[in-house]
Amino acid sequence: MIWFANDVVHFHQHEPCVYCIYCIPSHIGITGNEKADQAAKSALNLPNITSYPLPYSDIISSIKKHLFTRWQHLWHNSTSNKLHNIYPTLPINSNYPKAQLTRQEQTLYNRLRIGHTYLTHSYFLKDEDPPICVPCNSLLTVEHILISCIDFDIIRQNFYTASNLRDLFHNIHPKRIIFFCTRHWPY
Ligand SMILES: [Zn+2]
Repeated sequence: MIWFANDVVHFHQHEPCVYCIYCIPSHIGITGNEKADQAAKSALNLPNITSYPLPYSDIISSIKKHLFTRWQHLWHNSTSNKLHNIYPTLPINSNYPKAQLTRQEQTLYNRLRIGHTYLTHSYFLKDEDPPICVPCNSLLTVEHILISCIDFDIIRQNFYTASNLRDLFHNIHPKRIIFFCTRHWPY
């Protein structure tokens, strides 16, 4: 109410006016509204209910809500999905607008989020063994390089500090992650 009053005063600051603010009671306790509520509830007990066609637009929000619930259920069970670890709850939104990234940067950022890059997954195409990070003697994955590789420990700190992928993709600006990759990692 205070915000609204200030806004009105600001809007009309050059045109002095007199404003009256009324408190309007809710419908509870008003005889006509109480009767209308009772009539609506009693209609539920009628033996024959007449059907009336409704515009399809009335049901769109219900369909959207139903589909979103089903999507969340499917997503909740997709625990092997790498993106699920980062975004356990839908929708999959970054805290940062995509408009801040070029098309090429968006592509790289999305590849990092799903954990698939040429460096880490080209062995499928070449029919080779999965790549190994020699200094760490562990599988070379996107998560390993972005979070835990000892070879990049000091360099990473120049761009960001994150304890896991969820922390990284929720709290670090995409540009910082992309700069780290494009300058120091042949992704
Ligand atoms: Zn390593």
